[in-house]
Amino acid sequence: MPATDYAARFREIRDKVESEERLSLDDGIFLYDPAVPLQEVGQLANLVRERKNGNVGYFNINTHLNPTNVCVYRCRFCAFRSDLRDPKGYAMSDEQIVERGREATENGCTEMHIVGGLHHKMPYEWYRGIIELLNKTYPQIHLKAWTAVEINWFEFQTKKSKQWVLQDMRDAGLGSMPGGGAEIFHPEVRDQLCEHKANTHEWLQIHQTAHEIGLRTNCTMLYGHVEQAYHRIDHLIRLRELQDRTGGFQVFIPLAFHPENTKLDNIKKPSALMDLRTMAISRLMLDNVQHIKAYWIMLGIETAQTALAYGADDIDGTVRHELIYHDAGATTPECLSVDHIKGLIAEAGRDPVERDTVYNHVHREPHDFTKWTSGAPVSV
Ligand code: SF4
Repeated sequence: MPATDYAARFREIRDKVESEERLSLDDGIFLYDPAVPLQEVGQLANLVRERKNGNVGYFNINTHLNPTNVCVYRCRFCAFRSDLRDPKGYAMSDEQIVERGREATENGCTEMHIVGGLHHKMPYEWYRGIIELLNKTYPQIHLKAWTAVEINWFEFQTKKSKQWVLQDMRDAGLGSMPGGGAEIFHPEVRDQLCEHKANTHEWLQIHQTAHEIGLRTNCTMLYGHVEQAYHRIDHLIRLRELQDRTGGFQVFIPLAFHPENTKLDNIKKPSALMDLRTMAISRLMLDNVQHIKAYWIMLGIETAQTALAYGADDIDGTVRHELIYHDAGATTPECLSVDHIKGLIAEAGRDPVERDTVYNHVHREPHDFTKWTSGAPVSV
């Protein structure tokens, strides 16, 4: 396309964004064209970001818990999983799980993010018991647990419906669901990455059911492996369509693929430019999702900071005990202090605001950091 045509096509998209008109599949694919200056895509995304979330940069204080890495599946992008008899395989005891909750409480965490493998030998009751035990021992901590892939496995184990599993987990103390397991929805890609686990229809149905029973959930996309721009935009549109029906997604998190120790280790990890372009295009396509997160663990600290000007309004949490992306070669620290994370947001020119998992303001007692309450929603 000649340069003048690119400029005209970009102007068309800018007009749509300025008048809050929805972008199409073709618009999204066009924005991935390297001939479209990243700076301009970023500026457009920033317009939407500031319209929706002002100058705020959100963060939370959280910890991760991966109860087991043993998994019946063998996703090609996964460096975390282990075979049942592999020495690297583990399954945490109740004591270890309670200890993780104690550490989280002492560090002022408002959230535990709980995901892991689908262990060949552990029954549904073990997974449910983790939620019940933590909820009974540390009721103030919000438990954001189990991807749709895990919920689908629990359906298989219990022979019950999605609704039953989600309600049963909720009765045990589940607070919300993370957005993992989405990968890339389009079958041309999904079948190459993870043909056996929950398919696209199942993933979307589980999130829809969760929203219908009142659980908020997150959504993600794993990019930078074998997919093309078309598959990414198709993925975003499928999320947007579900959000139109339910409104239950609270944040979208684009996840950069890390190839180390995976079956796709011949692929180079996406560049920072690709990360920023994907962040910006996600903000532009997902006009009905309030928040876009730059997950610093995967992006690296500098790219996550920069992403706050490319559509993102959240950089996730302080995080402790992250294993999944560090097993795949992430070189980021395993944890950031609260002062550090606030400093990173401020350095990027945004106002740091602590939120809880479901985006309420967190108020901390001035003389005891570990005591906190959740206040009003950060945005409507
Ligand atoms: S991504 Fe999840 S489901 Fe797939 S192999 Fe890894 S742990 Fe198992």
